[in-house]
Amino acid sequence: MHRALITAALPYANGNLHMGHIGGSYLPADIYARYCRARGREIAFICGSDDHGVPALLSAREEGSTPASVVHRYHERQIEDFSGLGIEFDIYGGTSSPNHASVSQEFFLKVLENGFLEKKKSKQLYDPEAKMFLPDRYIQGTCPHCGGKTLGDQCEDCGKDQDPLEIIAARSAITGAVPEIRETTHWYFRQDLLQEKLFDWLSTREGWRTPVKNFALGMLRQGLKPRAVTRDLPWGVPVPLPNDPDAAGKVLYVWFDAPIGYVTFTKDWLEARGRDRERYADWWKNPDVPIYHFLGEDNVVFHALMWPAMLLAEGTYQLPTNVVGNSFINIQFPGKDETKMSKSRGTAVWIRDYLARYDPDPLRYYLTLIAPEAQRATFRMDDLFRRNNDELVGTLGNFVHRSLTFVQKYFDGKVPPSTPGDEPSELMTSLAHLPQRLGEALDSFRFKSGLALVMRMAREGNRYFDHQAPWRQRKENLRQCGGTINVCLRIARSLAVLGAPFLPFTSEKTFDLLALKTEERAWEKASEPLEQGRSLPPPRPLFAKIE
Ligand SMILES: [Zn+2]
Repeated sequence: MHRALITAALPYANGNLHMGHIGGSYLPADIYARYCRARGREIAFICGSDDHGVPALLSAREEGSTPASVVHRYHERQIEDFSGLGIEFDIYGGTSSPNHASVSQEFFLKVLENGFLEKKKSKQLYDPEAKMFLPDRYIQGTCPHCGGKTLGDQCEDCGKDQDPLEIIAARSAITGAVPEIRETTHWYFRQDLLQEKLFDWLSTREGWRTPVKNFALGMLRQGLKPRAVTRDLPWGVPVPLPNDPDAAGKVLYVWFDAPIGYVTFTKDWLEARGRDRERYADWWKNPDVPIYHFLGEDNVVFHALMWPAMLLAEGTYQLPTNVVGNSFINIQFPGKDETKMSKSRGTAVWIRDYLARYDPDPLRYYLTLIAPEAQRATFRMDDLFRRNNDELVGTLGNFVHRSLTFVQKYFDGKVPPSTPGDEPSELMTSLAHLPQRLGEALDSFRFKSGLALVMRMAREGNRYFDHQAPWRQRKENLRQCGGTINVCLRIARSLAVLGAPFLPFTSEKTFDLLALKTEERAWEKASEPLEQGRSLPPPRPLFAKIE
């Protein structure tokens, strides 16, 4: 495999990023992208902000500005947060760009031409004060099934779907006004026509995470219904049918235009590198290029069903190779119950707040340790601190630091010679096999197990150091002591190279401390010894304790 297309779900440009977003989607995607680059694969790592949708519109209304300015502000903040965490996309676009409007309009027209879009009249609730049709999520009232309080098209109490027109004593959640019933026309996506094709495709996928596949198959068995893909809103991609009076004032629904953003940004990325935009087909329509979508639980149904349905309906694209979905990360504060991370409940931990005080790698480390790969995970700040102190400072940092300190103190800052025949064969074997074993874990998206392999090697390094007792060897047999330290430096190199996808900032520091040139940082050279006599700079600690 020489090429791969990697995407991470587009975050809404209407808020800051929190721990849940990062752990559920962007961090695993970045680890995988870094790993692929380290293996010499050509990748396109694509992301951008999802600029459309009602929330940005409402924020703008509240603050008396425009959706475009709200979106611009959050887009910039997202770029800062990602870069502070070392999450390095090849491009970070935004769906409010003119390029994206034309790419998604073209897509819409092709789906229409292929017979998968159908125009239909329906009755909807209209807010006379806000002067807009009410999106489903903005209708509050009493559930017609259970009598509970409800918001939107699915009751939170009984979980049943409800027709918004049947909600009792409905009110607009935006203005509180009593909505009027008005007729409007929309285009419906006939995903139901693709039900069988989707089932055949999905049921034969291999290597997918079980919860993702089972959830999507379950939804499919319930049957897909035609779904409206246009909205009456002043913010979004205009429906590209200038000669149809029904299209006036209508935009594409966000869930239709957002994933097409991956395609737009791929084209923009090619253009930014001085290539032809139309070469996007080499990535999106080439059966030899795998396509991996990374995302959180809330996006699984979309990427595993509706997006593939859209691609099938358009007709010229490859379907995703894997949809790498994670569960949610809950949060627990000391002495409190576990809860969902949520902006409205004030239970989110923001990336900007974290980065203002702490280094990025401990967070990357912790979020990978608790990665919700198979089930929901719990984020605890005190646990993050403890794991930083015990494992990053106490194990990994300690091993590298004590080895380098020996070089400085007793070998004049130069790499001591190895002692062939004296090297620990078992340790050397597991060191030699580590790149392959780690590669297998990462290629099957088992990031947690991958990190565990790296940390196990750090622990083995410490055990070897303790067992050899170089502080005693140096008095009895300096040559043997040098051999021990030589082995330790070799392990440190391997930890830096193989740990880089997880802890990029730490690996950079370690590369400098080991005076490794760029070509010596290659994955294939991870287990090779350092040449004897090389001068190393004075050591400094890799991690700091957090109290
Ligand atoms: Zn109900």
